[in-house]
Amino acid sequence: MYFGGLQKNSLIDYPGKMSCVLFLAGCNFHCPYCHNPELARGAVPRANRISLDAALEFLESRRGLLEGVVLSGGEPALEKNLPRICKRIKDLGYPVKLDTNGSRPDVLARLFEENCIDYVAMDLKAPLSGYYPDITSKHIQAQLQDSIRLIMSSGRDYEFRTTCAEPFAGPETIGEIAATIRGARRYVLQPFNPLVVLDPAFCNAYQHQPDRAQIESFRKKIEPLFGECVIR
Ligand code: SF4
Repeated sequence: MYFGGLQKNSLIDYPGKMSCVLFLAGCNFHCPYCHNPELARGAVPRANRISLDAALEFLESRRGLLEGVVLSGGEPALEKNLPRICKRIKDLGYPVKLDTNGSRPDVLARLFEENCIDYVAMDLKAPLSGYYPDITSKHIQAQLQDSIRLIMSSGRDYEFRTTCAEPFAGPETIGEIAATIRGARRYVLQPFNPLVVLDPAFCNAYQHQPDRAQIESFRKKIEPLFGECVIR
C-alpha cells in the first residue's frame, strides 16, 4: 500500500489537536463536488506516493510535536490493511482519527472492536436515499445507516459533516439529512468549494450554491437536534 499524500501539520483536521494528515488514494463514491479528484480516482503519480514505512518514520520524528494523526482520502476504509496501519500509528503514541464516507460499516465495526481509532468523522452527502446515481453506483442506505448507528453508539469521539452543495444538500434537503443523525454530538456544515471539483460539468449546472449566510440559516434551524452544530 501507499499513501497518496501527507500533510505535515494541520490545526483543523483533528479537533483540538495539531495533527498530521495521511491521504489514502481511491474512492468508491464519485461526488461531483469532490475537491480531491486525483485521490478519489486513485490516480496519484508514482513520484507523489509515500510508503507506510516513510510515513511512520516521519511520525516517529515528530513525536512530542504532533498530537494526532488523521487518515483521510479518498476513502480510507477501502484499504485492506487499515487496522494494521492504525495500530502501527497508535504504537507510536498517536491518537488516530478516521475520515470516512460511511460506506463500509464492516470495516468501522472492526476498527472499533480492535480499538484502532479514537475519533471518526463521517460525511453525509445527501438524504440517504439521494446518493444514487450521482454519488454512488448503487443504493447504499443500509450501509450508511449501519455506520451512523455504529458511530453514535461507539463511545468514541465523532462528528458528522455535510458539504452544502446543490443538488444534494441545500434548503430542500438539509432538514432531512439532519434528522438522520438527530441526537449526534457534533454536526459540521461546510461550504462548497468550486475551485477544483471531480465533475466540473455537473457542478456548473448548479450556479446557486448555498453561501455562508444561508448555511448559517440552516445551522440555526437544525441546531436544536445536536449537542453542537458548527460551520467550518
Ligand atoms: S468527496 Fe470524499 S467520498 Fe466523495 S468522491 Fe471525494 S473522496 Fe470520495
